[in-house]
Amino acid sequence: MVTFSVFSFSQKKQNFVIVIDAGHGGHDTGARGVADLEKNIALDVSLRFGNLIEKNHKDVKVVWTRKTDVFLELSERADISNANHANLFVSVHCNSASNTSATGTETFVMGLKKMDQTDEVSRRENSVVFLEKDQEKYEKFNPNDPEAVIAFEIMNAAYKEQSLRFADLMEKTFVNSQGRRSRGVKQGNLHVLRNNASPSVLVEMGFISNYDEGTYLASEQGKQDVAESLYKAFKQYKSEYDRRSGVSEEEEKPKPVKKVEKPLEGKKLKIRVMESTMKFSSTSPQLRGLTDFEVIQEGNKYVYYYGETDLQSRADDLLTSMKRKGFSGAKIVEFETNKKLEAGKNYRVQFMTSNKKYRDRDDKFNGLTNVLRVKEGGLQKYYYGAETTMEAAQKVLKQVQDKGFRNAFIVTFNGEQPM
Ligand SMILES: [Zn+2]
Repeated sequence: MVTFSVFSFSQKKQNFVIVIDAGHGGHDTGARGVADLEKNIALDVSLRFGNLIEKNHKDVKVVWTRKTDVFLELSERADISNANHANLFVSVHCNSASNTSATGTETFVMGLKKMDQTDEVSRRENSVVFLEKDQEKYEKFNPNDPEAVIAFEIMNAAYKEQSLRFADLMEKTFVNSQGRRSRGVKQGNLHVLRNNASPSVLVEMGFISNYDEGTYLASEQGKQDVAESLYKAFKQYKSEYDRRSGVSEEEEKPKPVKKVEKPLEGKKLKIRVMESTMKFSSTSPQLRGLTDFEVIQEGNKYVYYYGETDLQSRADDLLTSMKRKGFSGAKIVEFETNKKLEAGKNYRVQFMTSNKKYRDRDDKFNGLTNVLRVKEGGLQKYYYGAETTMEAAQKVLKQVQDKGFRNAFIVTFNGEQPM
């Protein structure tokens, strides 16, 4: 007879995810160094770096974009990061130059500011795109298109400060704990960083085209030193992160059991997570992998709410988890239950936008009838329902989403005009 034993490990809750991205891989070898290829050094250091974190931080989940010598597209790296809800993304690379006397480390954050020196690194690290099948997706982003730049800046602003902080810690640690030469923190338009919904950096650990630095970086000692230096910088960053998000050893202990909590009467709480002038689709990195937002258009902005509860403690927990996801402006807001809008106003669900006019009962509406069409800015917008309470509007929203309009949202109207 065979018996199976089940072991369970008690583990500290993992509240932080780092994605470590070893640059290049497979037929994309990266730069050719004096002693080894960039892809091999990057992978080796990435594994050592992540292992140090796993060993010392039980509350951190380490995700590697690759753990073997395989080819990955640049967009796949960001996809892995976003799917894992990364709190930090680090892409690990080696530098190279035709001038073989060039040495030193440098760390990049995403930025569109033109800087001549960094164009060379951006060009080289982006060039893998030419090994990929679908190059078009990168060309969609045009740094000379003001609208694309604004959309990018809105998203990047949320992570820029922390990206710069981590980049700075990395460069300082290279100098202070290893006596390396630092070329500093720089900005570049790097494809591998651009679509990450988290603070993100790309580190160039040194020039493998230089005889001394290239030999050192390919050696066991060199790779271990660099991994330890990256780890030291991470450790500092993580402790700052914990302080900011109010996590301490104390709070990790189980909380004393509370008295039975009474639900709030006549009102409920939601988390107002963020607002934006843009309506993000459910797969946008801005939504950090969360799909159950309630989006309400108020005038020219979209407000994103998450969760709904009549328990204060539940709302507090939700708020903490939203902040940890990186929504630093999240707050709890109170709603009166079944509150009626003022006379004449109503909530409708916008489910479709098109440049074409469709009649009511069109097949495109998937069975929705009495659809209201409103022309706005050259586009036809289609609305369903007209309710006077948010609760009723939410039911209509659910119904519309079940018809396949996953990105539908609620808009406040005055009569038949959006407010
Ligand atoms: Zn590289």
